[in-house]
Amino acid sequence: MITAANFKVNHTRESTASYLEALNLFLDAYSTHCDVRVYPAASSFLKADLYPHVKLGAQNFYPAVNGAYTGEIGSQQLNEFGIKNVLIGHSERRVTLRETQDFIAKKYAFAKENGWEIIYCIGEPKDVRRNGFEAVAQYLLDEFEDIDTDYDKLSIAYEPIWAIGTGVSAEIKDIAEVLDMLKSRFKSTPLLYGGSVNTENLRQIISLKSCGGALIGNAALDAANFCKLIQIAQNVQKEE
Ligand code: PEP
Repeated sequence: MITAANFKVNHTRESTASYLEALNLFLDAYSTHCDVRVYPAASSFLKADLYPHVKLGAQNFYPAVNGAYTGEIGSQQLNEFGIKNVLIGHSERRVTLRETQDFIAKKYAFAKENGWEIIYCIGEPKDVRRNGFEAVAQYLLDEFEDIDTDYDKLSIAYEPIWAIGTGVSAEIKDIAEVLDMLKSRFKSTPLLYGGSVNTENLRQIISLKSCGGALIGNAALDAANFCKLIQIAQNVQKEE
């Protein structure tokens, strides 16, 4: 079960350090093995080996070791912190930062070459959702163009764009339908859901048979709340 926290442009270096210390302590005392990932802002990166129970990740990177890419970071910068986990394809990068599928595929290939764990995000806008499941499925599958889904360090996060940061999660039957469709194609790849996950709705989402975890923004910004979310996810797994 994967529980991942996307900080986006939140937390300072200092508050990220306190958060990670609290989380690592919590996981140290926790008896079950958990795959817990945290994606802080790049300015708050800390050495990954300071927090052995947490996988530190990058929300973004440029697909190069280093070079003339103003404002970006490459693998040289990630390696300095021992970061081996990345998010790719998040809708905020696809839509707000205008990343094309071609560029996303380049980032994906670079991450794969480096052997990094990838959470690859896909999600449809509201107008596509209004057209029903077939339209959603087609939209999502198009977001796999030039992506090698056989990569064994890949997890896929289904995040309907309209559900991200809005407080309105997708309906459980719609999440189930999409995750089942993805499972039928990408059999051994862990599938996550993201989009306004919180302590009220996580249990039901995680209980879906094709769901292998959650990617969480707002509700994971508080360390104690993220620990609660991890416990909810792990308890569902124990009941299986
Ligand atoms: C996200 O950032 O991927 C996300 C799902 O955010 P939120 O949980 O706030 O909707």
